[in-house]
Amino acid sequence: MRPRRRVLPAILAVAALVAGGCTKDDYVAPPPATTTDAADPAAAADTLATLQSAVREGDAEAARRLGVDAAAGELLGAVVANAGAMGLSDVTFRYVTETGRTRGADGWDGQVAVTWRVEGLDEASARIELPVSFADRGTAIGAIGGAGARLPLWLAGPLTVHRASGVLVAVAGDGADARRYLTAARRADAEARAVLPGRDGLVVEAPADAEGLRRALDTDPGRYATIAAVTAPVDGTEAAGSPVHVFLNRAVYDDLDPVAAQVVMTHEAVHALTDAVAARRAPLWLVEGFADYVALREVDLPLTRTAGQIAAQVRRDGLPAALPAPGDFDPAASHLGAVYEAAWLVCVTLAAHAGEPALVALYDDVLAGTDLAVALREHAGWTEAELTEAWRDRLEALPGVAG
Ligand SMILES: [Zn+2]
Repeated sequence: MRPRRRVLPAILAVAALVAGGCTKDDYVAPPPATTTDAADPAAAADTLATLQSAVREGDAEAARRLGVDAAAGELLGAVVANAGAMGLSDVTFRYVTETGRTRGADGWDGQVAVTWRVEGLDEASARIELPVSFADRGTAIGAIGGAGARLPLWLAGPLTVHRASGVLVAVAGDGADARRYLTAARRADAEARAVLPGRDGLVVEAPADAEGLRRALDTDPGRYATIAAVTAPVDGTEAAGSPVHVFLNRAVYDDLDPVAAQVVMTHEAVHALTDAVAARRAPLWLVEGFADYVALREVDLPLTRTAGQIAAQVRRDGLPAALPAPGDFDPAASHLGAVYEAAWLVCVTLAAHAGEPALVALYDDVLAGTDLAVALREHAGWTEAELTEAWRDRLEALPGVAG
């Protein structure tokens, strides 16, 4: 993700990476299995089977009939429409247990396991559990989702979906911006592929607002308030092949100028298409710096704009002693924009010394698990100390620092 501070100049809004399961998503305790008189697991399982069939057959009317009221029926109809528009496959709904919450005399919340994947773009299926409110002794559905549970965009309300050659954009609501997002996503896909042959399939999800983003990612309120976009596993897990999508924070992204918006989208596309989320051992300066290297490669902007914040920091505090540390990239960290610029300049330093193909090969190897020191020696003939020294020289020569 990229905080808006780094607005190339005003925008190289930075982006940090949401590694799957690294925080509170690590383990979610299952709700207590309790028994209420209202609960009828067999009826609920039948209702979910009917919903599953409706999704698979594209029968929105059959799904609508499962709603306990008009609003619930509309949501269930939208779920069928969303699944069709996104080309979802492996859609399953399975009743797991009661949560202990009851709703009136004959309603209760059940924990439901859901799987899905975007056919042709996601390598494997996402899997989550979330509460579903059952009514009429389990023959009807009142609501999907609840506090403290991840709510995927396609289960939250109507979407506008556009798809073109390996890129899909799903936008909550009327989707007036969907075409613009698709254009940026397609260009991001092309810019990333121009540098490295990545995996196929870029999926961009745009929740309607900050609350929609919070629910889709199951994060604390405000965590991404200043971040334009986030690349994250859709189900919050690190399971092999678990789908990783780009999520836009429209409150920030929509305010970016077109150049900045494209930089953000391409930066995130590099994360998503190279499975950077799963590369837990790769240093963040490489993950984030490389994403910016690709995103800025086609952008014609002076260093005063692309490295203005790090230049100001060096002028104020002197040259950093070491490459940016992992903690420097926390979305809540201070001077986040300067850190991203610094990481970008590490990659610029590497490319200037050994050539772009060497930088790309180094990135590939380190993401695949090769030790940084080994990859540096092989592709750049450097130790980390030598890289750091060359990077410090580059920082020292920045406009506004030298002289
Ligand atoms: Zn990033």
